[in-house]
Amino acid sequence: MSVQRIRGATLQRRRKLWFTLHPLCVACQQKGVTSMATELDHVVPLFKGGADDQSNLQGLCPTCHEQKTADDLGYVKRHAIGLDGWPIPEGVPEGRRGYERSKKKG
Ligand SMILES: [Zn+2]
Repeated sequence: MSVQRIRGATLQRRRKLWFTLHPLCVACQQKGVTSMATELDHVVPLFKGGADDQSNLQGLCPTCHEQKTADDLGYVKRHAIGLDGWPIPEGVPEGRRGYERSKKKG
């Protein structure tokens, strides 16, 4: 037995109502950012046993939805590993990575 997802016209009506009542991305709001929610997300994913009703819904912007989906599926944004075997910090330009690290050590 699987959870019956709401689809079609019923889903469209529900989405429209939801975004009328909750127009902002909840994840962005938690970060103090105001973004329009355009994606209706299940707080607990259906495949993890979440309910397909209003108690388990939240509006997200596309960016947060993508991030949450990745989290739900267990994807971890992986750091690249440098030549010395340590993760490369984000935002360090390619050519400066070794330099940045050796500078810290020395
Ligand atoms: Zn967002």
